[in-house]
Amino acid sequence: MENDDVICSGGGISGLCLAVALSKYANVDFHVYEAAERFKEIGAGVMIWTRTWTILELMGLSEEFSKIAHAPPDSSLAVGFDYRKSDQPSEGFRFHLVEVPHGCIRFHRADFLDVFVNNVPEGAASFSKRLSTYSVQGDEIHLDFHDGSKATCDLLIGCDGIKSIVRKHLFEMLSNDGKQELDLIEPTFTGTMAYRALIPTGLVTGSSIAGKASYSISRGSIVNVVALTSDPQKENTIFDGPWVTPCSKEEVQGCFCDWEPEVQTLLQCIEKPTKWAIYQLKPLPTYVSRNVALVGDAAHGMAPHQGAGAGQAIEDAYVLAKLLGSPLATRGTLAHVLRAYEHVRRPMANAVLQGSRDSGLMYEFNYPGLGDHYGALGPVIQSQWDWVWATHPDEEVTRGLTYLDHNIQGHWHSDDT
Ligand SMILES: Cc1cc2nc3c(=O)[nH]c(=O)nc-3n(C[C@H](O)[C@H](O)[C@H](O)COP(=O)(O)OP(=O)(O)OC[C@H]3O[C@@H](n4cnc5c(N)ncnc54)[C@H](O)[C@@H]3O)c2cc1C
Repeated sequence: MENDDVICSGGGISGLCLAVALSKYANVDFHVYEAAERFKEIGAGVMIWTRTWTILELMGLSEEFSKIAHAPPDSSLAVGFDYRKSDQPSEGFRFHLVEVPHGCIRFHRADFLDVFVNNVPEGAASFSKRLSTYSVQGDEIHLDFHDGSKATCDLLIGCDGIKSIVRKHLFEMLSNDGKQELDLIEPTFTGTMAYRALIPTGLVTGSSIAGKASYSISRGSIVNVVALTSDPQKENTIFDGPWVTPCSKEEVQGCFCDWEPEVQTLLQCIEKPTKWAIYQLKPLPTYVSRNVALVGDAAHGMAPHQGAGAGQAIEDAYVLAKLLGSPLATRGTLAHVLRAYEHVRRPMANAVLQGSRDSGLMYEFNYPGLGDHYGALGPVIQSQWDWVWATHPDEEVTRGLTYLDHNIQGHWHSDDT
């Protein structure tokens, strides 16, 4: 049986970022257990914002990420989101432009994951290790994997995505103690379907469409398309079918057949699209219980309307690693470290979860009271983006360390029960 200080269950963006961040601390022994046979990402794009870029810089990874971005990131103001009225046959118009420092920094997902993979120390990960359950026995956590193997650790971090098994057990245990409701475990359907596809840029050059409903990645050689259709009435209903399926180009074109000509031209170029039912979590009232914590989508799986889920996962990992690497973190203080992590990360990530959903309702003209009042929508949409540039992730680290220090010194906070 293996024994580690910290076990990360899941090696997606959150688990790998956490592993890389923890590898800077010689005193923290950690291991990643990934369900798949290897680390892998889907063939699509991912965007991040200036806050996340700051973290990648602080982790010493910016040079490697610069090489695989759509263009080397630069801190001047640039386009974040270009909101355009396109859902009519005549030519559309911009109704709001959001500009932020660094703009929208874009990558191919596989390249993005590979930078983390390349920085995970040799031997720090095991594959085909799907966690099936865990139990807490005294100060130890006992893990059981689908293949019959076992492991123990002092701290279990659920990095296992929106369908997290760690979240399921964590909330079941809290519910047995009468502390939480079980209906928080399952993600809920948002009523939105996302069609995703990649197009070689050569097929769409000569047109201005590459920046609309889409963005370039891989040094500008590929255009990433994400086309969303939403029915707000279906939010929280049961979606009958698999979450991700291949679909025909004709199905995607059919959904947008009465949209402006540039959309039609773009959708003519797509090949092999996939269709994603978009799920989200309800904002969780806790991300931790005793020596178990949730990070990334396991804690706050969100709709993609602000392109922020992976960025929030990276923020979680960075802050948690800083707290675990602090001299205040010892075997005896681990539960306090997790409380400090939750104290700073949960308000932020839950707000982004909620803001992402609201942003979608706004740009699809479904937000109550705003509808398609473009003049009113602009400033409200703009304010939804303040978090991206007006704050710094190290503020959370500082607040977390202060909170941890106060708790360890015996200045108890009312929510530290
Ligand atoms: C259409 C769409 C577009 C998006 N665009 C963006 C974007 O532009 N920018 C952005 O920031 N975010 C975006 N997101 C969100 C982003 O993809 C996620 O937030 C991010 O991938 C979450 O990473 P994670 O590591 O928490 O989870 P995951 O990526 O789901 O990784 C979980 C890992 O855990 C493993 N695992 C699962 N169960 C177990 C188990 N029982 N035992 C062991 N391992 C297990 C899985 O195999 C996987 O490797 C988008 C999402 C969607 C749906």
